[in-house]
Amino acid sequence: MEQETEHIKCLIIGSGPAGYTAAIYASRADLKPVMYTGMVPGGQLTQTTDVENYPGYPMGITGPEMMENFRKQAERLGTDIRYGYVSEVNFSSLPHKVIIDGIKTVLADTVIISTGASAKWLGLASEQKYSGFGVSACAVCDGFFFKGQDVAIVGAGDTAAEEATYLAKLCRKVYMIVRRDEFRASKAMVQRVLNTPNIELLYNTETKEIVGDGQSVTGVTVINNESGDEQTLNITGFFVAIGHKPNTDIFRGIIHMDDTGYIKTAPGSTTTNIEGVFCCGDAQDHIYRQAVTAAGSGCMAAIDAERYLAAKEHIVTA
Ligand SMILES: Cc1cc2nc3c(=O)[nH]c(=O)nc-3n(C[C@H](O)[C@H](O)[C@H](O)COP(=O)(O)OP(=O)(O)OC[C@H]3O[C@@H](n4cnc5c(N)ncnc54)[C@H](O)[C@@H]3O)c2cc1C
Repeated sequence: MEQETEHIKCLIIGSGPAGYTAAIYASRADLKPVMYTGMVPGGQLTQTTDVENYPGYPMGITGPEMMENFRKQAERLGTDIRYGYVSEVNFSSLPHKVIIDGIKTVLADTVIISTGASAKWLGLASEQKYSGFGVSACAVCDGFFFKGQDVAIVGAGDTAAEEATYLAKLCRKVYMIVRRDEFRASKAMVQRVLNTPNIELLYNTETKEIVGDGQSVTGVTVINNESGDEQTLNITGFFVAIGHKPNTDIFRGIIHMDDTGYIKTAPGSTTTNIEGVFCCGDAQDHIYRQAVTAAGSGCMAAIDAERYLAAKEHIVTA
């Protein structure tokens, strides 16, 4: 079967806050962007309930509703939004070659990568059941909802340690569940945890089940993997901080990235090591990982793409 091919100015891969913001700016700059949404149209925020920290929503908004607003705005301004998944890329020559769903070829003068990241979960059914109803993978996003309450956090790396101390400032008590008898976090971060009086450390401990009343979390059953002893902690919030995985496997070996798979961009810009390819949002940000920072870098990516094309046009016509 002959493959269908089209040539466009700007391709946006991914439909989270970064991708939609890039789409809004690229549309208004007349780049006629085409967006492929990927398997999670709207991105990570479609998996959460209330978003209270995105400016412009004084009463807060649900994640899915907010992303629907992003979509409507990008569409109204002219973005061609398509359901599809980028299965392969070839950035070895211009225009860049991108394969959609293994069948369709798109040739793009600029590519904006906004494929985000996925939080790692423990894989318990109860964790999925209460996700957004007491279970969260983001302390900065959701800690506020548990002000003055008792919560637990699972993880042993720098992020877990940082999030535990963040939660400790808001919550009455934080149980920190660490699978082994030591942390993976840096010494400085471990010290911060140890110096925080309302964090109780549970070493050699694993999460057995998250307990709830059908509506929200009421506790967590943990098991000591040395003694086999079980206990149920009374908590209302359960935070999973065992890492994130950037959705960048299709770019591996093609574009510069760090060991975890975060795409490297030049400081203060969204340019990558490949001409005409820009990256924004959580796919390149392991530090902030917020909707507003993703949106901000999406704006940067569209401006970078527009300026790149304008500079090229100038060279060609000069
Ligand atoms: C449970 C939870 C709650 C959160 N709450 C908040 C909050 O309250 N406030 C806040 O600011 N932040 C919150 N965050 C963080 C926020 O969701 C992220 O920082 C933000 O969504 C990142 O945006 P992004 O556009 O970079 O990527 P994502 O939102 O991760 O979107 C990535 C997009 O890329 C697409 N994609 C991936 N691979 C491909 C491919 N090969 N081809 C095509 N498309 C592809 C996906 O389908 C998806 O549409 C929360 C995160 C989680 C998990």
